[in-house]
Amino acid sequence: MSTTKYCSGCGSQIAAAAEICPKCGVRVASPLSPSHAQIKNPGIAAVLSFFFVGLGQIYNGQIGKGVAYMIIGFVCVVIGIATLGVGFILYAIFWIYTIVDAYKSAEKINRRQAKYSYGAVESASSPKQSHTLRNVALAALLILFFVLALMHRL
Ligand SMILES: [Zn+2]
Repeated sequence: MSTTKYCSGCGSQIAAAAEICPKCGVRVASPLSPSHAQIKNPGIAAVLSFFFVGLGQIYNGQIGKGVAYMIIGFVCVVIGIATLGVGFILYAIFWIYTIVDAYKSAEKINRRQAKYSYGAVESASSPKQSHTLRNVALAALLILFFVLALMHRL
């Protein structure tokens, strides 16, 4: 375990955590760009959502959305049991939707991160939040529609 490193400027032994050499003042560590830590893998997001509804969204950092998806997924399962299997079609549709959403959201997050780290001053990236809200609202409406249709049927 090494807690020291050698300065690239003057070669003196300095603390490993040091960003600037105390001897010569040369920057020895580039500050970690925030974009580097926040890059999402769309594949991982999709696979996580494949195994558990909402998990891919949480991986993407969309905690609220992920939890909402888990609740919707749970409601779908309850409807599925209550309707002796018919409602599971609803769950399947929602499940596929969450996988696609996890993948696309990860791509979107990466694109936004790239934009920030390159310092591009494009001011046309605000309707994203409302877009997400619209998708969630659409999913909720779809589920409501199915519930009503199933209740009518029974
Ligand atoms: Zn130095």
